[in-house]
Amino acid sequence: MPPFSFTIDAECPETWARAGTITTPHGVIQTPIFMPVGTQATVKSVSPEELHEVGVTIILANTYHLMLRPGSQLISDFGGLHAFMHWDGPILTDSGGFQVFSMGHLRKLSEEGAAFKSHLDGSVHLLTPESVMRIEAELGADIILPLDICAAYPCAPTEAREGMERTHRWAERTLAVKDRYRTEQALFGIVQGAFEPELRRYSAHVIGNMPFAGIAVGGLSVGEPKAVLWEMLRHVTPELPKDKPRHLLGVGSPEDFVTAVSLGMDMFDCALPTRVARHGGLFTRHGRVNITAARFRVERGPIEAECDCYTCRNYSAAYVHHLARTEEQLYYRLGSIHNIRYMLRLASQVRAAICAGTFPAFRDTFLADYTPAPEEVREEQREKWKMARRANRALGRPTSVYEQRKPR
Ligand SMILES: [Zn+2]
Repeated sequence: MPPFSFTIDAECPETWARAGTITTPHGVIQTPIFMPVGTQATVKSVSPEELHEVGVTIILANTYHLMLRPGSQLISDFGGLHAFMHWDGPILTDSGGFQVFSMGHLRKLSEEGAAFKSHLDGSVHLLTPESVMRIEAELGADIILPLDICAAYPCAPTEAREGMERTHRWAERTLAVKDRYRTEQALFGIVQGAFEPELRRYSAHVIGNMPFAGIAVGGLSVGEPKAVLWEMLRHVTPELPKDKPRHLLGVGSPEDFVTAVSLGMDMFDCALPTRVARHGGLFTRHGRVNITAARFRVERGPIEAECDCYTCRNYSAAYVHHLARTEEQLYYRLGSIHNIRYMLRLASQVRAAICAGTFPAFRDTFLADYTPAPEEVREEQREKWKMARRANRALGRPTSVYEQRKPR
């Protein structure tokens, strides 16, 4: 069996949705799939055994955080991420670039790479396309991403073009050195192009024709209106090769997951389901509820009657409400398990519908029943706007455009 492969099991005749199977050295992933984010080599408050139980087949870990602490060399000395964190399933690592660009640690961006100061101790680091391959080889994930440039929203067309062209040059440099390290790691290319349809189409065409194992779509969901996000995907997807898996970076609320699948995406990572869980936001088929709300105080039933997660099988909503209100540690675990299970169950329902030829009806019914929490969208956007402003300050760019258009 090859170390990495992707096959398409079913395609929706009316939308661009497809169901596929990815094979990696650490296991098989059926797509579409949701990947929980384990920033610090842990999905916060949930053990690997619990991740397996809720149906997680792949997790994402952040190179930026791990290279700084505990260090990629130390993780390598412990046998790589899988052994270090006791997770035997597939892992995907990002390149660290997104954090460097979005968190304002960037001090100097050049053709060579991105120099930045650690947010932990101020030490200076240089990420280059080549050094990122070495670091990700030390971490040892199954799927790895190259260094790219993520533009902020909004972005001037010339800046968008320059960032995209540099991303393409960095993709070439990454491919040139990748096989010096671990050949069993699957390298995905990243499509950029900010919010320019023409650039998005061009980038998808260029990256899609390079010898990458899969394609990631980056630079979206950074504060732009949802309509713009979907418009960009409508330009990107037709240019992509059909026979490679497609990862939409950083997108993963329930309603966005279903919509993006219909626009041809296969893989999704997002910190939102676990982050909102820790703040009391739990997913149900009708939308997100706040478990700390008074209506759950005497609720004898589970959070959601049809949920098959460990939390809903064993605890009343009243008890989970009590734990959340008293900020007990068990709450973070029970809430996270519920939301991760929700996303994984949704992913398998979507897959089943694609295979059965009923995906368009499933999508329409789901989106009609599910009311997105408006505050969830705003909260997410506020965070990203803040990050974009900090990044611009670090680059010495005026931030006034962002200040003026800051959403309320
Ligand atoms: Zn549940």
